[in-house]
Amino acid sequence: MKPDRKFLRQCACCKEYKDKNELIRITKYNKTGEIILNNNNDVTGRSCYICKNAQCIETALKKKKIELCLKAKTEEKLKEALYTVLKK
Ligand SMILES: [Zn+2]
Repeated sequence: MKPDRKFLRQCACCKEYKDKNELIRITKYNKTGEIILNNNNDVTGRSCYICKNAQCIETALKKKKIELCLKAKTEEKLKEALYTVLKK
């Protein structure tokens, strides 16, 4: 059975479809071009999603999946923010 994709988002790393709550939303803010974690959906811009697990986050960072997806450079600050999410 196929998942109902209407409510699902695809992880930019493992390409699995998951519920939004299981993913971290990362957005390139269209006013500043800054890449930020956007879990409150309060920022508009090009977005991608990554699973909330160490494996996907580490692979995404290592293989620059976020940079490829958002066509922007990720900063050290973003990596720190992602690891902070994991520790929660
Ligand atoms: Zn994933």
